[in-house]
Amino acid sequence: MNVVIFGPPGAGKGTQAQNIVKKFNLYQVSTGDLLRAEIKNKTEIGKEIEEIISKGDFATDDIVNKLIKNIIINPQKKNKLIFDGYPRSLNQAKNLDFLLDNSNQKINFIFFLNVNKDSILKRIEKRKILEKRSDDDAKTILNRYDTYMKITKPVLDYYSKNKNFHEIDGSLEIINIYQKIEEIID
Ligand code: AMP
Repeated sequence: MNVVIFGPPGAGKGTQAQNIVKKFNLYQVSTGDLLRAEIKNKTEIGKEIEEIISKGDFATDDIVNKLIKNIIINPQKKNKLIFDGYPRSLNQAKNLDFLLDNSNQKINFIFFLNVNKDSILKRIEKRKILEKRSDDDAKTILNRYDTYMKITKPVLDYYSKNKNFHEIDGSLEIINIYQKIEEIID
């Protein structure tokens, strides 16, 4: 099965994706992690996106679409993917459908973790201390939320019509969110 998990920054997508990976033996595809690896390795893409990401803006669709293409066509990972932080725009959502379609795959579950701005701010502040992520200062947090609302809203509209779409209250405790996800998958 393939899974998409999405929601505003700080909604707990990464944590839930890790839990699902362990239980259902999937590969986690986090475009945030892929982009951070490009920056760390000082690749051409890395140099291009470093400033964009540090401001809380989005990398271009072209860049992220390229990064995930090789993963989707990898036969070892076929039908074992969980997308975390991708798609973030309507263009990316359509590109994902296109790539999956071309390799005879589909999305089996779409989870939207819905959480309000106040809870997100509190969580990201906590994560900032624990993980020391440089893009997590307060101004960036607000920018990331606003960018999310602006660009990812069309993804929500697009997916909410899908029969595999499930909205989950992302302000619940991590364990309770995971229980709901597990119930739906099982
Ligand atoms: P994340 O780890 O998912 O919170 O992503 C960290 C940052 O990477 C985001 O704030 C964006 O700047 C960038 N990013 C991650 N995934 C995407 C994506 N699918 N499209 C554009 N930018 C992305």
